[in-house]
Amino acid sequence: MKFADLGLAEPILRAVHEQGYDTPTPIQAQAIPAVLKGGDLMAGAQTGTGKTAGFTLPMLHRLSSVAPKRDAKGRIAIRALILTPTRELAAQVEESVRTYGKHLRLTSMVMFGGVGMQPQIDRLRRGVDILVATPGRLLDHHGQGTLDLSHVEIFVLDEADRMLDMGFIHDIKKVLAVLPAKKQSLLFSATFSDDIKALADRLLNQPALIEVARRNAAAETIAQKVHPVGRDRKKDLLSHLIRQGDWHQVLVFTRMKHGANRLSDYLNDQGITAMAIHGNKSQTARTKALADFKRGDLQVLVATDIAARGIDIDQLPHVVNFELPNVPEDYVHEAVSLVCLDEEIFLKDIERLIKRSIPRETVPGFEPPVGEKAEPIVLGRMTIGVGGQKRTSSGGGRPGGGRPGGGRSGGGRPGGGNPSGGGRHGGGGRPGGGGGGRQGGPRSGGGNRSPQGSR
Ligand code: AMP
Repeated sequence: MKFADLGLAEPILRAVHEQGYDTPTPIQAQAIPAVLKGGDLMAGAQTGTGKTAGFTLPMLHRLSSVAPKRDAKGRIAIRALILTPTRELAAQVEESVRTYGKHLRLTSMVMFGGVGMQPQIDRLRRGVDILVATPGRLLDHHGQGTLDLSHVEIFVLDEADRMLDMGFIHDIKKVLAVLPAKKQSLLFSATFSDDIKALADRLLNQPALIEVARRNAAAETIAQKVHPVGRDRKKDLLSHLIRQGDWHQVLVFTRMKHGANRLSDYLNDQGITAMAIHGNKSQTARTKALADFKRGDLQVLVATDIAARGIDIDQLPHVVNFELPNVPEDYVHEAVSLVCLDEEIFLKDIERLIKRSIPRETVPGFEPPVGEKAEPIVLGRMTIGVGGQKRTSSGGGRPGGGRPGGGRSGGGRPGGGNPSGGGRHGGGGRPGGGGGGRQGGPRSGGGNRSPQGSR
């Protein structure tokens, strides 16, 4: 199948073609016709599947095939609203809207917190067809009367599972309450917990159900390897790999924010330009770091995974998992993973999930020390012990919670803390945290990932 077969308007096809794409990805091949029909959609797809174009292209088609709407003041009214969990994702989605809509006369805007309200108010006054927003700031504007959502025809909830993990459920409900009852609603989620299904029941009306293979299932062709290494030598190994390989544009994932900071300081000390991005950094700092990195002015970007969601990993030559995520679904495949003994339990979970073993390759000079003993890894209040036992410590663990999104397999987020940076729920995250999703079998509570409720 080709994009040209999907019935999209010519200016949209031209923009897609200019991006170098002519064959739709599986999610696009299914979602585009479903959305063009005008019905609701529940789609199981994670980042990297091409889901953004999957909803953006038919949305642009539908909006461009009729005249713009005007509000009471005669301004162009918002007809499409896309909610995303993080600022980075919002910015990325809006960029896609612009890219694919560049030959159309539609206007778009991205809106998130952490930056001034006034420029956003000014932009809204000029009229916008398509708004991409994080929930908190959207509600702030609505509360102040600077935003009119009464003309919305298409509503997209992107990465709905992340939104719930980040404690946005109340905000989502508030947004739903102010949207027109009659609209087309599209829900995208990588996973389908009971909470997501409950949200879908509330939001969607006889939705088409689509699920594409998780990226994990398609890992065969992707280069990935593990470098076993001693716990204390990971940093050395990373700088060795960067130097030896003459790597530029290296994206490095860490589990926690302060680990990201420490690693970036270390690399800078080594003469390798690096910056850390995570939810504690100001929006300005994050935007600047991303821009520098994309331009190639910054050699290494160290990120906790949620903060890196606006980065297109597919286009990056070097991705390193400096630490393995404690939730196997968060594992990034196209990557070299530096794994110490303590993380063997995470590695086993990941290999079970992707149904293959990842090749080990010891780097000469960085062999794991003989006789090293595994130590437990502390994630917020939860300790993941040697051999996989879980202990709950009395709050003395490392601050900041686990890897963001750690609870998306259904067990609540370890530790708590606000991983988003995108929202306003500063403190708590989701109730019931501390349980962690990785105990009790391959994935406790998260087994049902498909819209139909089976795998
Ligand atoms: P997403 O899952 O929306 O974050 O998209 C992941 C990546 O796939 C982005 O770099 C897109 O530009 C790219 N992409 C989207 N559609 C296609 C396509 N049909 N063929 C190849 N790459 C695509």
